[in-house]
Formats: sequence, C-alpha cells, structure tokens
Amino acid sequence: MKHLDLIVIGGGPIGIACALEAKKKGLSYLIIEKGPIVNSLFNYPINMQFFSSSEKLEIGGVPFISKETKPKRDEALEYYRRIVTSNDLNIHLFEKVISVLKEDSTFHVSTDKTAYSSDYIIVATGFYDIPNLLDIPGEDLAKVSHYYKDPHFYAMQKVAVIGASNSAVDAALECYRKGADVTMIIRGAEIGKRVKYWVRPDIENRITEGSIKAYYNAKVKEIRLSEIIIDTDKGPVAIENDYVIALTGYKPNFKFLEKIGVQLSKDGKYYPHYDERTMETNISNLYLAGVICGGMDTHLWFIENSRIHAQMILGHIMSKQQSKA
Ligand SMILES: Cc1cc2nc3c(=O)[nH]c(=O)nc-3n(C[C@H](O)[C@H](O)[C@H](O)COP(=O)(O)OP(=O)(O)OC[C@H]3O[C@@H](n4cnc5c(N)ncnc54)[C@H](O)[C@@H]3O)c2cc1C
Repeated sequence: MKHLDLIVIGGGPIGIACALEAKKKGLSYLIIEKGPIVNSLFNYPINMQFFSSSEKLEIGGVPFISKETKPKRDEALEYYRRIVTSNDLNIHLFEKVISVLKEDSTFHVSTDKTAYSSDYIIVATGFYDIPNLLDIPGEDLAKVSHYYKDPHFYAMQKVAVIGASNSAVDAALECYRKGADVTMIIRGAEIGKRVKYWVRPDIENRITEGSIKAYYNAKVKEIRLSEIIIDTDKGPVAIENDYVIALTGYKPNFKFLEKIGVQLSKDGKYYPHYDERTMETNISNLYLAGVICGGMDTHLWFIENSRIHAQMILGHIMSKQQSKA
C-alpha cells in the first residue's frame, strides 16, 4: 500500500491549492478526484461567468489572465488545468474516495480503485454533488434537472425554473434569450437578495414586462409529464410544462463527513467542527478546506475567501512536522 505524508480528497480549486502548497513544502502528497480536474467547474453552465474578478480566483500566486475582468467557465478550466499540468501535480482522476479510517496515527483511505495510507488528510470535496431535493411527486421524471448546462436545449420549450438565486436567474434569462417560454417559481416575495447587482435589473425588467413569467410566494407541489402544479396565495395553479430546472441549491456530503468521524452541528445547519485558525477538525491531522466548511450555508465560502485555507493548513502541518523532528 502506498504511504504518503498527505492525501487531499477533491481536486477542485481549493484541493489543488492545498496540493501546490504541499509540493512547495516538500511533502509527499496525492490528490484523489472522482471526476476530471475541477469537476464542479466542469459541470457549471457552459456560458457561466464568475462573479469574482480573475485575480481573486488565483491560487499559488499564479496569475490568472482573462479577457474580461470576470472570467468565464472555460477560462477557469484552462487556468486550473494548466496549474495542475505545469506543476506536474500528483493527482489521480476518476477515482472516488469511499472511506477514511484512522488507526493509531495513520489514515487508511479506500477508493473505488485501490487503497492508500497517509499521516494527514485534507477533505476538500465541496458541495456541488448533492442537490437539495424538492421531495415532491414527479421530481424523478426525466424532464427534471437539478443542474443547468446549456440554454440551446430549451429553445421553443415551456420551461419552469424553480428558485430565485443567481443560478436560477442566469438560467431563466439565458433560456428566455434562446427562445424558451420561461416561468420562474419563487418561494419568497422577491428575487434572491444575493443576486448579482448587475443582473438584478435585467431579471426584474423581464418579469415586469412579462417576457419571463414569475410566481412569487409559490411552491411546486407536483410535476407531471405535461404540466406542473404549484401552490400560490390564490390557491393551486396548473402550468403547462415541458422541462423543469430546479435550482434549489446543493449541500456537502454530510454522510461522508460523519462516516469519517467529523462532528457536525445539530442545529440543522450541519456546520462541521474545525479550528478556525488551522482548519483542523475534531480528528487530529484531518483538515477541511474550501466550501465544504459552510455546512448548509453554502454561500459562506467560495474560492475567493477559502483559497487561504491551503496556507493555513500546510502551515499547521509543517509546524507539527517540525515539532516531530
Ligand atoms: C454557478 C456558480 C458560480 C460560482 N461563482 C463563483 C465566483 O465567482 N467566485 C468564487 O469565489 N466562487 C464561486 N462559486 C463557488 C466556487 O465555484 C466554489 O466555491 C468552488 O468550486 C469551491 O472549490 P472547492 O475546491 O472547495 O470545491 P469544488 O470545486 O466543489 O471541488 C470539490 C471536488 O471534490 C470532488 N469530490 C467530491 N467527493 C469526492 C470523493 N468522495 N472522492 C474524490 N473526489 C471527490 C468533486 O468531484 C470536486 O471536484 C460559484 C459556484 C457556482 C455553483
């Protein structure tokens, strides 16, 4: 079995930042990633533009040059891919970590391909794999998606977009502009408060002029093959429908964290327990990095403010290494 100083679980921007830092410190390390490099970004909408400017997405001090101030998804893929390849980072792609067990001071990591051991673990598995489900009849129909990719698919179709966050607003606007008949189903009384300030007037004006229909204070009750049933202030309404894009957010894999032994808060937010100065969890030598740290509050952490975790964690690991020597 291969033994390493450090195993990083998840090859997103923050996992890669951690590996870069580990390499600089001369540690043996491995990133294990269940998909392609930066799998979450790869699965974002194809036309997606970051809300951060490119320098705020930089890791390891490597300049990120983009055409506009805020880079597009394809530029981010290029940037993070080039970081991995040009630094020759040790990464295993399309390999999924199944379990992490600690025995004495050694971690045993099993994947769907093989097993490893290490002295330290960083869990940087993000939150993009598990959508918040609606739990309503019809949610499992093929016409329902919890991810949005490409507006072309929806041209000339009756599309319901559920949600009012940035992702829902972007999807509604793009689909409308590619010829879809779009209806937004919004739980609250208005478009989400965190919607980008430069996008808000666009969606509000499209709704006011009726180009995009919106039901506020509304909840989808059932999805059928050719319609959806929603609950509104004025009672149930049936809307003709071909496709549903349910963008109601995502959550970290809490079961995975619990199985490893990371403590989670019991207030329904599932905040994982970690030391805010070092990112070390209640399990000695096991750290969390990136957006996974926010529990159900997935908006708390993003690349901009979590890339710093790499230096915090590796700084702590190196101080432990020095006190061992
Ligand atoms: C539409 C959208 C727009 C965004 N725009 C911005 C922005 O402008 N600025 C910003 O700072 N942030 C933005 N974010 C947030 C940002 O993309 C995420 O914060 C970022 O992906 C976090 O990086 P991460 O490395 O923590 O997690 P992720 O990028 O999600 O990486 C986690 C990785 O772990 C892998 N993984 C999961 N489980 C396993 C397992 N068991 N075994 C192996 N691998 C596993 C996943 O495949 C994934 O590649 C945006 C998010 C979305 C959804």
